[in-house]
Amino acid sequence: MTMHSGGCQCGAVRYRGSDFGRSSICHCRMCQKAFGSPFALLVTVRDLEWTRGEPKRYRSSNKVQRGFCADCGTPLTFEPDGHAAEVAVCTFDKPGVAAPTIQLNPESKQPFYDGICALPMRAEGAEPQQEAFKASIVNYQHPDRDTAQWPPQGGR
Ligand SMILES: [Zn+2]
Ligand SMILES: [Zn+2]
Repeated sequence: MTMHSGGCQCGAVRYRGSDFGRSSICHCRMCQKAFGSPFALLVTVRDLEWTRGEPKRYRSSNKVQRGFCADCGTPLTFEPDGHAAEVAVCTFDKPGVAAPTIQLNPESKQPFYDGICALPMRAEGAEPQQEAFKASIVNYQHPDRDTAQWPPQGGR
């Protein structure tokens, strides 16, 4: 099995794993809150291992803890008591390794969700001010690979 790595936005928490289970989209209200998003995308990782730092946990129910980076707030895990942890798929360095295969908890699915893919896409260069803003951005996010030291020596 191929080893896949990932971590939070700031790089304080990094992980790896290779033994994947189901990848799912969850529409439940708790996932919406925890991710600040219409849904959570989570994959079971049976051999999850923390390679830098560890998430802070919030017990969201009597059966589940949720892990997140205490420094930058990135949601990282869904950890049911007595079962393998699930990892937030888009925190992997290559999120495409765990494409979802099922959707869960439709009773709290947001009414706009089904139309998202049909929304118009802003064309590249359509708003020059936005392009200038993008060009001026200095990215502090941890890169999509493991690093020996982060932030790099001598500041960011
Ligand atoms: Zn972080
Ligand atoms: Zn959920």
